[in-house]
Amino acid sequence: MGLWDHMKPAARTPAPSAVEQFPGKLAIAWDDGVRTEIAFRDLRLGCPCAGCVEEWSGRRTLDPASVPDDVHPTSVEPVGNYALSIVWSDGHSTGIYAWATLRALAQPSLAT
Ligand SMILES: [Zn+2]
Repeated sequence: MGLWDHMKPAARTPAPSAVEQFPGKLAIAWDDGVRTEIAFRDLRLGCPCAGCVEEWSGRRTLDPASVPDDVHPTSVEPVGNYALSIVWSDGHSTGIYAWATLRALAQPSLAT
């Protein structure tokens, strides 16, 4: 076994290389070359925290009607090297969005 046999890349979640806020949406450039965009409201409705999703069943308890149409982040901060912490204009601040969650929520943007 040579050195390289020990260094085969493990399957890993791509990480963002850039996160940008645009009017109404969050754009993320990923280190695997993919670029995604997520509408703020979709991102808010996809919040994975225990207050929005029942932990043991995965059932979403957040009522979409309780989220304003114009909801937007007031703060977007990296958490370690694995997630974004987003504070929302509706006062919700417990959502930690892991990279895999962000990828799952995002639709790959169309080149324009
Ligand atoms: Zn939440």
